[in-house]
Amino acid sequence: MINVTVWNEFRHEREDEEVKAVYPQGIHNCIKDFLSKDEELNIRTATLDEENCGLSDDVLNSTDVLIWWGHCHHDKVPDELVEKIYNRVMCGMGFIALHSAHFSKPFKRLMGSTCSLKWRDGDRERLWCILPSHEIAKDVPEQIVIPVEEMYGERFDVPTPDELIFIGWFSGGEVFRSGCAWNKGLGRVFYFQPGHESNPTYHIPEVQKILTNAVHWANPNFIADEIECPWVPSQEEELLKETLRSR
Ligand code: ZN
Repeated sequence: MINVTVWNEFRHEREDEEVKAVYPQGIHNCIKDFLSKDEELNIRTATLDEENCGLSDDVLNSTDVLIWWGHCHHDKVPDELVEKIYNRVMCGMGFIALHSAHFSKPFKRLMGSTCSLKWRDGDRERLWCILPSHEIAKDVPEQIVIPVEEMYGERFDVPTPDELIFIGWFSGGEVFRSGCAWNKGLGRVFYFQPGHESNPTYHIPEVQKILTNAVHWANPNFIADEIECPWVPSQEEELLKETLRSR
């Protein structure tokens, strides 16, 4: 089983009728519902207003892949928690940042850059899959039209992705690196641009497929207890001693 925790700020859905109509149970529960169709996934949710942002040490230390949606209250996430998330990614946990989580503290910490971009609400997006051989692109069509989505434009100030899987084109003329993957420490990080809170993007089957694939891709083979930098003896000398002993 892959233990997935879906974290959501969960303020828009409670405070804004338009958003509530799209995600009555919150974005986190919408994501949980479609991920739950995959029997290999064990899914929990966590939100900003829960104790410890819903991410106690027990929850974090038993999470294989952490999904993050945040927008207006990034600053409410304590720095101490951000460091714990960062360290767990360094040890192997997968991290998936969605849409406005480009400015979330954990994502910025992982990228080590400003993560700024351009934006304009209410555009139309054509999401092009440019790396169809990638695990995240499995059974995903070459292009997905998202009738209403917020435009995010370049320059997206992140380190050059290790793998660029999707490019978004917007009817206003901009393009954006909409699906980017990085290796960070022992962990894998995926950023996915679509998913503005007032648009039903996470109800689109192809988007659900991408995020389900992303969870499998980000799932680590193992998670280390800590990152070490150990002194080691010469492998060659050890091998030689072993060979001489066996004669
Ligand atoms: Zn947005």
